[in-house]
Amino acid sequence: MQHVKDMISKLVSFDTVSSKSNLPILDYIEAYLAEYGVESHRVYNAEGDKANLYATIGPKVAGGVVLSGHTDVVPVDNQDWSTDPFDVIEKDGKLYGRGTADMKSYSAINLALVPDMIKADLKRPIHLALSYDEEVGCLGAPSMIDEMVKTLPPVHAVIVGEPTNMQIANMHKGMNAGRVYVRGLEAHSSQPHLGCSANLYAARLMVEIGKISDELKENKLEGIDLEPNYSTLNMGIVQGGIAANIIARDCMFSWDYRNLPDDDVSIVLNRIYDYANKLEAEMKAIYSEASIRIELLQVTGLKPEHGGAAETLVRELSGRNSVMAVPYGTEAGQFQERGYSTVICGPGSIDQAHKPDEFITLDQVQKGLAFTQRLIAKQAQ
Ligand SMILES: [Zn+2]
Repeated sequence: MQHVKDMISKLVSFDTVSSKSNLPILDYIEAYLAEYGVESHRVYNAEGDKANLYATIGPKVAGGVVLSGHTDVVPVDNQDWSTDPFDVIEKDGKLYGRGTADMKSYSAINLALVPDMIKADLKRPIHLALSYDEEVGCLGAPSMIDEMVKTLPPVHAVIVGEPTNMQIANMHKGMNAGRVYVRGLEAHSSQPHLGCSANLYAARLMVEIGKISDELKENKLEGIDLEPNYSTLNMGIVQGGIAANIIARDCMFSWDYRNLPDDDVSIVLNRIYDYANKLEAEMKAIYSEASIRIELLQVTGLKPEHGGAAETLVRELSGRNSVMAVPYGTEAGQFQERGYSTVICGPGSIDQAHKPDEFITLDQVQKGLAFTQRLIAKQAQ
């Protein structure tokens, strides 16, 4: 247990807030794995300042299990921490620090068990997959998964170790976050005929999105424990105009469409795009340089695969029968989308994630440790 706690402290000590480079933590992990003769593979971002890392322990044969975690953490700015967030403190059976729950403890447990994996003489491999930029929209993992699919022998299952208190989660919604940039023409507010108000056109598009949002509520998926059990559409930010007496040239607003994993998201997206195109045409008739531009960030939902390889394996290892859905997005849908059977199961609670004084209980660390130990035994059979 002490070596697991030490590894948690070590990983937390790297300030890997998503806005910063994660290369120092990868250097550490790569050197650690190399001590055990395990070779790491990096997949860099375009700028070369962040990377994913994956590594295989055991023989390069089919039937491997991927243990997936992200290296980045959410910021600590403006949070009231009682202790240094990057220095793990143990108190009352809990380890405090940024990332202890979400989700460095999971990766630390798996790394701490690498010597046991080596000793166990695995018949089928365990693959470690560590991504960057998960917390800012699951940006890192896709390029790594693409490479894993190309280079690894067929994989049996993927376990994404986001904090579920070691329960099995086989479903989450997809996320489609849009930012709409409306550009019109400024003029004095007393002369609206000389301008083209970005605010007014943005408002019209927002009303349309509001209608779609209302319609989504009618499409409930019964029999699941997602709350709410329908797709949602929220508008989180509106920023438009600079003065009360100026017709707004620019307006930006954001929307966040969280779809049930089986939804055809193109239906909602196309409605938004079509309406935006219609409004843009109206704006251009007034001012030819006017525009409505939409940026989209998407995270795929995770669909339940009943009787799937990952769910069956994790049921066996955890002794649990029940499965649940989680309200947050993860990289699990990205693995599944590329053909890997995937579930989410990891130590710690999402209730503590992203908060000041984030912690994981030692009981959860112990349970996570026992879980990976059972996986090692299984892969050695
Ligand atoms: Zn996470």
